[in-house]
Amino acid sequence: MPISNGSLPGPRFRAAVYRVTPFQTSATACRIRPSHLLGLNESPYDPIPEVAAAIAEAGREVNRYPDLEGARLVAELGRAHGVAADRLTLGAGSAALLQGLFHAVAEPGTDVEVVYGWRSFELYPLLADLAGVRSVAVPLRDGVHDLEGMLGRISERTRMMLICNPNNPTATALGAEHLENLMRQVPSHVLVVLDEAYFEYVRDCHVVSGVQLHGRWPNLVTVRTFSKAYGLAGLRVGYMIGDPAVIVPLRRASLPFSLSTVAQAAALAALAHHDQLLARIDEIVSERKRVRKELRGLGWDVTESHANFLWLAMGAASTTFAEWCAEYGVAVRVFPGEGVRVTIGIPADNDSFLAACEAFELTKKLEVLR
Ligand SMILES: *Cc1c(COP(=O)(O)O)cnc(C)c1O
Repeated sequence: MPISNGSLPGPRFRAAVYRVTPFQTSATACRIRPSHLLGLNESPYDPIPEVAAAIAEAGREVNRYPDLEGARLVAELGRAHGVAADRLTLGAGSAALLQGLFHAVAEPGTDVEVVYGWRSFELYPLLADLAGVRSVAVPLRDGVHDLEGMLGRISERTRMMLICNPNNPTATALGAEHLENLMRQVPSHVLVVLDEAYFEYVRDCHVVSGVQLHGRWPNLVTVRTFSKAYGLAGLRVGYMIGDPAVIVPLRRASLPFSLSTVAQAAALAALAHHDQLLARIDEIVSERKRVRKELRGLGWDVTESHANFLWLAMGAASTTFAEWCAEYGVAVRVFPGEGVRVTIGIPADNDSFLAACEAFELTKKLEVLR
C-alpha cells in the first residue's frame, strides 16, 4: 500500500517492497509467555564470561568507528579455516552477506534468476524479491535438495544457486559426493552459495564443508555465522569464504562499518575460547539424539538432524501442534500445512517440549477411543 497523505499522492517504493511478508519470529500467539524459546534455532546458553568481558571492554570504544575491514577477525578466521585474508569477508550476520550476494547478481532491466531448493531458509525469496531477481524454487525430495532438479532449472539467466547445508528447516545434509558431483556439472557462470549456518552441528563424516572445496571451484562460496553454534545471534556476525575473484569485489561493494566494534570483539573472544563453545555444541548434539529417540519412541517419524533443530513433518496438524506446545510454554516455529521446527535447547527446555509431545500423543489416542 503506497503511503498516502489524504488526496495527495504519497511517496512510492518498488512494488516488491509492499509485497514483502514480514519475517516470522514467534510460533503462534502464546497465551502465556513462553519460557522455552525453541522457535529461532538460537543457542540457549548465556555468553561465556570471556565473551561477556570482551563485549564490556569494546563498549568503551564505541565513540570511534569500528575497524573497517575487521582485520583482526579476518586474520583469526583465516587461521582457523586455513585460508588467506583475501578469501574471507565479514558481514553483519550471514543475512547481510546473502543480501549483498542477491544485490550483486541483480541487473536492473535484465531477467536474472536464482535457483534454490524449497522449502529452505525463508529469507531467500524475500531477498530475491527485494533485489529484483526471479526465484526459481525447486521442491525438495523427501526433505533433501534435489540437485538434479536444480541443475535442470539452470539457464543463461541463472547467476546464482543457493544450497542450505544442513537445510533449514528440514535438518537434512548433503554428502560430499553429491556436492562435488553438483560442482562438476554447474556451469562456471553460476555462483554456488553454500549456506552453512548450522555446519558446527554436523557429525556425519560424509558431509563436507564448502570451505574445503572452494580452492577447486572458484564459483563456490560458503557463508557461515556466529549466530547459531557460537551464540552471538544478538550481535550479528557472519563471514563468507571463497575465491578472491568473488570475495574482493563483494567486500568492496558492502556497506562500510556495518560490523560493529562490539560484534568484532565478541567474535574474536568466541574464537579464542573455541574449546568452551565446542563442549556446548556437543551437548546440543547429544540432546538432539535424545529428543529424536524419545519422539521415535512415541511412534513419530522424525528424520535424522544435522543441525540444532528437529523437523516434524506434521502436515495439516502443524498449527494445532504448535498451539499445543505454546500452552506448555514452548515456542516452536510452525510452517502451516507443512511442519514444525523445534530448536534443541538445554535439557530442561527439551524435557518441557517432550512433555508437550507426550500429552499431545495421548490426547490423539484418547480421541480415537472416543
Ligand atoms: C539462522 C540462519 C542464518 C543466520 O543468519 P544471521 O544473519 O547470521 O543471524 C543464515 N542462514 C540460515 C539458513 C539460517 O537458518
